[in-house]
Amino acid sequence: MLVLGLTGGIASGKSTVSKRLQEEYHITVIDADEIAHQIVEPGRPAYKKIVRYFGDKITDLILPDGTLNRPALGAYVFQNKGELQILNKITHGQVRKEMLWLMLCSWLKLESIVVLDVPLLFEAGMDIICGMVVSVVCEPKIQLQRLMERNPELSRAECEKRIASQMSNDDKIKRSDYVLDNNNSVEELNQKIDSVIRKVQPSLWVTLLEYIPFIG
Ligand code: ATP
Repeated sequence: MLVLGLTGGIASGKSTVSKRLQEEYHITVIDADEIAHQIVEPGRPAYKKIVRYFGDKITDLILPDGTLNRPALGAYVFQNKGELQILNKITHGQVRKEMLWLMLCSWLKLESIVVLDVPLLFEAGMDIICGMVVSVVCEPKIQLQRLMERNPELSRAECEKRIASQMSNDDKIKRSDYVLDNNNSVEELNQKIDSVIRKVQPSLWVTLLEYIPFIG
């Protein structure tokens, strides 16, 4: 099974790529952000650990419906690096476990390719488990415009700060096998995705051929 890492900065277009891979190619995409949300739902192990550790420190940590007050938790930990590290320690391990479990499910279903959509793929060192890495990049100016349009609740300064805090496009490009330039229309992006998929196909055949000795 080819494990393909999909990464890119905030609002670079990862979800747009992921949508096409799922809808057009029926490829399983394991979305790290989605998992990070699921693991802190009430009753899940990470939820219990967060409530146990942060419950006394943040007064409104739990909302009336029992879910975590994520903005309050975020605001608290971002003021204190040590607390952020503790939160990351609680959540990152659970996210990895869940991702590995979903990869195993794909492998058992004999899927030839699985995509890991991880915004901080390189920062988290997860590129080492990927056979190939595809980065989605666009000019910071376009990225800023798309981010402000998608998240109107964020100020221009907040958007700029989020973009500036991330790994540069150049560093991501250097560490990627394929780069999807997303400076133009979605239609153009789709053509580039199709081209990458065509290039990846031979690798899938190599992967399948590796099984022949076992079949024989
Ligand atoms: P995040 O990591 O922040 O969740 P992302 O990398 O998944 O973001 P998307 O959500 O795919 O990025 O794209 C960000 C915004 O830009 C969305 O509103 C999306 O519709 C829009 N967008 C993406 N690609 C294009 C494009 N080529 N042309 C116009 N708009 C685009």
